[in-house]
Amino acid sequence: MSELLDPESNNSDLAFEGALRPTSLAEFVGQPKVREQISLLIQAARIQDRSADHILLAGPPGLGKTTLAMIVAHESGRPLRLTSGPTIQHAGDLAAILTNLTSGEILFIDEIHRMSRAAEEMLYLAMEDFRVDVMVGKGVGANSIPLELEPFTLIGATTRSGMLPNPLRDRFGFTAHLEFYSPEDLYGVLTRSAAKLAIKYEDAALVEISKRSRGTPRIANRLLKRVRDFALVNGHDTIDLAATNGALDLYEIDSLGLDRMDRAILELLTTRYAGRPVGLSTLAVAVGEEVDTIEAVVEPFLVRTGLITRTARGREATEAAFAHLNKRSKPGSAPTLLDL
Ligand code: ADP
Repeated sequence: MSELLDPESNNSDLAFEGALRPTSLAEFVGQPKVREQISLLIQAARIQDRSADHILLAGPPGLGKTTLAMIVAHESGRPLRLTSGPTIQHAGDLAAILTNLTSGEILFIDEIHRMSRAAEEMLYLAMEDFRVDVMVGKGVGANSIPLELEPFTLIGATTRSGMLPNPLRDRFGFTAHLEFYSPEDLYGVLTRSAAKLAIKYEDAALVEISKRSRGTPRIANRLLKRVRDFALVNGHDTIDLAATNGALDLYEIDSLGLDRMDRAILELLTTRYAGRPVGLSTLAVAVGEEVDTIEAVVEPFLVRTGLITRTARGREATEAAFAHLNKRSKPGSAPTLLDL
């Protein structure tokens, strides 16, 4: 996956991300509907003095799922426990977490679609009745012991909501689908970050970064840092358009914000397959990436920008993809200037 998106990127990126995380809904830029819906959930719970309903946050990486979970905890004045699906491989792992929750605590499970089946089933009962059945012993002597849990709020995050089984999805009181951010919203994210980090900038620089950040706040913030470094190394303390273009060229981010992996996919679809539909696993093998990553990270933005379409027979490059790569148009479509 692109280094700009990797949530487990290097330590300095992580510290930097933490420093820039908004801590209130008011500071959270964009996604007005989701903000309003979450605000309502928090207020309703407060009025009734109970835990907020369970919340599922769905959307590609870097759009603010973890940030929103932290905000819910902060705004409702409750402690937050963070864990992730891949670390919950046995029902016992989940039982240990659940039985340790204090009353009203918020449990955040990132990548909840990657939890084991057994843990998932334990979660159904826990979410609905605040109860778990813990198996003790093995074989014929095995016994199931019911344990009461303190009431808690589960916030699940997933980049693949389609992979969640229905019984689990149905147990969330509310599902928020986070959308890619507009350049205007990303500009808002960037001005806030620049102010926090005391970075001097020319407006045109932030406008350009916001257009080339793949609709993603995490990428916008990381590009801001790369541009700031580029300017510093070149002896400038203000970031301008020249530093922005220089840094983004160096990191191979093109005018639409596409990175090397995005372009490798488009290149394949337009050249080797010349606009014909291609299956996801074929694509993944050809570019040396996991199917999951292509589906959850690379594809959503390419679809959203209209560069590829998803058909029953596979993924296809659109006319816009051919134009973006300066290629001859799709076979069978009307000729463009490039074909003449
Ligand atoms: P996810 O959990 O969806 O992968 P995060 O919540 O970790 O994404 O967000 C990544 C970074 O992007 C955060 O550190 C935060 O600084 C920034 N960010 C995300 N959403 C917003 C937003 N709406 N407003 C401001 N900054 C944001």
